[in-house]
Amino acid sequence: MPGTKIRIRRELLEYLMELAREFYPNEFAGFLRERDGVFEEVLIAPAGHFGRTSAFFNTWMLPLDESIKGTVHSHPDNVLIPSPADRWFFSKFGGFHLILGYPFGLGDFAAYDSDGNPVEVEIVP
Ligand SMILES: [Zn+2]
Repeated sequence: MPGTKIRIRRELLEYLMELAREFYPNEFAGFLRERDGVFEEVLIAPAGHFGRTSAFFNTWMLPLDESIKGTVHSHPDNVLIPSPADRWFFSKFGGFHLILGYPFGLGDFAAYDSDGNPVEVEIVP
C-alpha cells in the first residue's frame, strides 16, 4: 500500500539493534507486539530457530497473540532486502516486518508489508 507508515518506539528499536549485535554473526528473530498503533515490545523467537541462514520462521510456530502485528529479524550481511524465503513468510504472516542490517546502528533497518513492499517507519520517542 503506498503511503503506509508504521510506528515504532525508539527504545524498542534500540533494544532490537542491541539484540542483533549480540546474536551476530547469527541471525536474530522475534515477533513484534503493537499497542495503540505503535510497536512496543519484542518476543524473541525460540533459540532453535536461529542460524546463519534465513527461513527460520515456520508458520506452525506463530504465536496465538492478537497484539503481535509483525516480525523482526537481522541480516548479518547488511543486505536490507527480503530474501525469497522472507517474502514467502511475510505473505503467510501478514502485518509488517523489520529487517535489521549489520552493523546495526539505529538507521540500519528497513520495513516491509506482507507483500514485500517497503513501508515508511516513524520512530516514536
Ligand atoms: Zn531475511
